[in-house]
Amino acid sequence: MQLINGTKVIRVKQSYDLVQLEEAGRIIRGGGLVAFPTETVYGLGGNALDPMVAASIYAAKRRPADNPLIVHVARPQEIMGLVRDVPPVADRLIKRFWPGPLTLVFAASDCVPKETRGGLSTVAVRMPAHPVALALIEMSGCPLAGPSANISGRPSPTTAEHVVNDLAGRIQMIIDSGPTGVGVESTVLDVTVTPPQILRPGGLTLEQLREEISSISVDPAIIQTSIPRGIKARAPGMKYKHYAPKAELVVVEGRPADIVAKICILYDDYVNRGKRVAIMATTETIHCYGARKASLVGAREDLATVAANLFSLLRQLDAEGIQIILAEGVDMVGLGLAVMNRLRKAAGYRIIKA
Ligand code: AMP
Ligand code: MG
Repeated sequence: MQLINGTKVIRVKQSYDLVQLEEAGRIIRGGGLVAFPTETVYGLGGNALDPMVAASIYAAKRRPADNPLIVHVARPQEIMGLVRDVPPVADRLIKRFWPGPLTLVFAASDCVPKETRGGLSTVAVRMPAHPVALALIEMSGCPLAGPSANISGRPSPTTAEHVVNDLAGRIQMIIDSGPTGVGVESTVLDVTVTPPQILRPGGLTLEQLREEISSISVDPAIIQTSIPRGIKARAPGMKYKHYAPKAELVVVEGRPADIVAKICILYDDYVNRGKRVAIMATTETIHCYGARKASLVGAREDLATVAANLFSLLRQLDAEGIQIILAEGVDMVGLGLAVMNRLRKAAGYRIIKA
């Protein structure tokens, strides 16, 4: 155990010993906050049924209180106490994809405090596929509100070190189980509407969802290329500036060869103006940039690698004092939909077509 600014940091392997999580469970039962690993990103856990706890989560993250929290359960049956109705499509999706990176939005039952729901009449629920997360929920004896364990607006944390950097001194405990696997947050799917609609693309792809329910649609707000105006954000989190590094981020979109050519011109121009610039490049293109500073985010032919490294690389480039990040766009298929949604938002929609 390490103590950093009053926050306990414990290391717990995936092959954990339950005794290691006893104190974490006690903290949650006492109304405190514990950051925990999931398969997507690190979450900030607290009792989802206690309105005071929800208020302390918003305060710790500096998150606007109208941006609702996802409730994490350890077994599918636990949704029964949280929701008014489980539509048959939700049943099918749960059987196929839980535990996993799929959050479902249901009509909320009265037990879920309005603070947890961000004032909405619905509640978002998921069962994470991480043994330590599941054990912590069981230990706590209550469902856990679990937003990403970062300061609101910053890139989501994929290691315990990221959580320490954002939240040490603001929460009671951080459980370190190493880097998360998926690297982007869960897919948020509204099952109160027909057909079900994706409100946030994430770790479970549209294509995977459509294998089970072919009619699933996508909220137009998530593929936009400019700051949303006039569209009412149905996942309130989507209307805020998000995932952003301190550096100015520019996304360059188009065919890979055109992207490379455009980025080289932009890079040289920024360097001539005295800026510290870095390129977020892919395995297929990184050799094209010569002596320019290019960092590898992952492979176009395996977008899971891009998702896994995206947030971590944004934080790393900030730590290196980079002022301008030129990011290559990727195809919006599979995990590319979630990756491009995060990149465009992180860039504040500074998108250049190559
Ligand atoms: P985070 O907790 O950082 O993973 O963000 C949670 C995301 O889920 C945000 O975009 C929220 O707006 C969205 N969300 C949570 N609860 C609901 C809900 N009841 N209805 C719609 N979106 C929700
Ligand atoms: Mg978040």
